[in-house]
Amino acid sequence: MTVTTAGSPLGADSGYELVSDPARAREALSLRCGGCLPPLLYETDTPLGEVPLDFPPSARQLWLYAHKPGRPATWIRKRREFLDHRLYILLSDRDPFSFTAARILSSLGVPCGLRQEAEQPDWEAWADLLGYAAYAAVPHAPVEPFASAMRSYRPERARPFCMDALAIIVRQSRKPSGPDADATDLSNIREREMCDAERVDRFFLDRHPCSFCPAWRVCMGTYERIRGEGENTCSVFFREWMEACECPAIEK
Ligand code: SF4
Repeated sequence: MTVTTAGSPLGADSGYELVSDPARAREALSLRCGGCLPPLLYETDTPLGEVPLDFPPSARQLWLYAHKPGRPATWIRKRREFLDHRLYILLSDRDPFSFTAARILSSLGVPCGLRQEAEQPDWEAWADLLGYAAYAAVPHAPVEPFASAMRSYRPERARPFCMDALAIIVRQSRKPSGPDADATDLSNIREREMCDAERVDRFFLDRHPCSFCPAWRVCMGTYERIRGEGENTCSVFFREWMEACECPAIEK
C-alpha cells in the first residue's frame, strides 16, 4: 500500500494517508481496524461523476479529492452512494465550477469543502460560497472551510482563518472534543508562522497596507501579494467572513 503525503500542505506529518490509485484505495479501506487508522484521502483526476465508488465498507474516514467536479448530471444521482460511503468531498478552487458544485453537494446533504489553490483566488466566488454556507436557510451539509471557522471563531483571538478544507479536516480528526478543541494542535500548520512577532513587526513597522486592513485579525497578511483591487479583494471577503462568524442570527 502506498503511503505518501506528497503534495500535502501540512508536510510529512499530515495526519492522513494519500492514495491516488483506486486499487490501493480499496486495499487501504479493507484493512482491519479501519477506525483506528488515519483518514484516507483518495485523490483523483477523474471527474467526480465518473469515479467508481466500489469501495468496501470501512470504518475508516474516506475523503474523495476530485480535482475536476465535472457535470452535475453525472454525479447528482450518486448522492445515495456518497452518503452510504460517508464521503467527504474535497474540491479545488482551481476549477471555477467547484464553487457551484460545492453548493449543490451541500444542498444534497453531502459534506464538502474547497481548498484554496488557485494562484489568484476568485474572492467574489469565495464570498458567494460563504454566503450560501453561512446564511442559506434551507437544510444543507457543512461546507468547509466556513463551517469550522463559524464554530471555532473567537472575536478576542487573532488567528488566521484557514482556507484549506483538507487542513481543517485533518485538524478535526486529531483534536480532542471540547469547547476549545478547534484551537488545539496548530503546531505544524503554516498559519502558526503568521503569528511570528517578526512578521507582525514587518507589517506594522513598514506600514504595509495589510496593517490597516480591518480583516488583519483573521488573515494577518496571508494574501498580501495577491490582494486584488476594487470590490473584489481579500479584505472584502475576509470582512464578510468575520461578519458571518459574528452574526448572532446564525446557528453555529
Ligand atoms: S485580507 Fe488582504 S489586505 Fe487584509 S490582511 Fe489579508 S492580505 Fe492583507
